[in-house]
Amino acid sequence: MNIKEKITENINIKEINTKDNVIKLRGHHILCIQGFQGYGYDENFTENLKKIVNSIENFKIQIVNANDDVCEKCPYLKDEKCLMNLNHFKNNETNNNQDKIKKSNEIIKKMDQKVINNMNLKINSYYTYIDLKNRINETFKTKKSLEAICLNCKWENECLFIQSKE
Ligand code: SF4
Repeated sequence: MNIKEKITENINIKEINTKDNVIKLRGHHILCIQGFQGYGYDENFTENLKKIVNSIENFKIQIVNANDDVCEKCPYLKDEKCLMNLNHFKNNETNNNQDKIKKSNEIIKKMDQKVINNMNLKINSYYTYIDLKNRINETFKTKKSLEAICLNCKWENECLFIQSKE
């Protein structure tokens, strides 16, 4: 069973509706979508991501350098910043909460930028899903090619995309 079949098996088919037939995605979420099999941070997040995964082929995809349509329902998004990596810092690194928030957000943005650079994408440009799939297949052929981006991801053991690579 290939990744697409596994994803489809695990989720309900639902369409999402956006105003202008565009889904906004930040860089690293292009890869998350490849490996998603129904896990997430909470129910809202997971339901939203399921809808996006199921209908993405019907939409234009705009690559953004900020929060996207996945982040929109994420419990880690606060004041437009990603707090996922808030506890990443050692106690002696910084005690300032604003610094921690800034750095947490920067970690995610760096991950996005690596994907965008590697896939030769332009921020704010639009792509079809097929085009993105072709670029993914060209760019990320091995587990090693994903190391600098996905290493230490909390979903590494659940990600079908990582598991599909050798
Ligand atoms: S963890 Fe951060 S990047 Fe991922 S969906 Fe949540 S807010 Fe967005």
